[in-house]
Amino acid sequence: MGMGIVEELARKIRDIPDFPQKGIVFKDITPLLNDPRTFRMAIDAMAHQYVGRHIDLVVGIEARGFIIGSALAYILNTGLIPLRKPGKLPFLTHRMSYNLEYGSAELEIHRDAIKPGQRVIIVDDLLATGGTMRASIDLVKTLGAEIVGVSFLVELSFLEGRQRLQDCDMTALITY
Ligand code: AMP
Repeated sequence: MGMGIVEELARKIRDIPDFPQKGIVFKDITPLLNDPRTFRMAIDAMAHQYVGRHIDLVVGIEARGFIIGSALAYILNTGLIPLRKPGKLPFLTHRMSYNLEYGSAELEIHRDAIKPGQRVIIVDDLLATGGTMRASIDLVKTLGAEIVGVSFLVELSFLEGRQRLQDCDMTALITY
């Protein structure tokens, strides 16, 4: 009997206790990326849900969202937009602040990255409290994009981040 896709992918995600600080169990996806079979399976499965849905752009969130986002954009034949930490993007930007479990953070997007009405998906590796994706959605909306979906490799469902993304069609491949 073969394993299901989700089970095979989940076996390549490693738990690192107390990283980057005590009490956090970090989900390390590098073993999944390291294996050509699971990397391809994960990207193909994420891309599959958007095939034929006329996506113009994939928006990837720094930094692990870039890894997944660029592969998705290549498969879906779309452009790629980076959402970056402050001070990295060289042209005019819009900026959005959001709260983390400790302190706050900001993300930026180039003002001319998306034209009103363009159909986009936003991707990141993992949904925890949802603060990062909430800010990303709000930022992308300020440019008038139509958000077709938001997509994650991993969802930590016990943190209920999904509750903050109810205005979007949200999917995750692997749920803990
Ligand atoms: P949040 O804004 O709380 O949804 O956090 C999501 C962001 O933080 C994503 O970019 C994740 O890569 C990262 N992150 C949060 N918690 C974890 C975790 N337990 N393991 C790995 N990455 C995490």
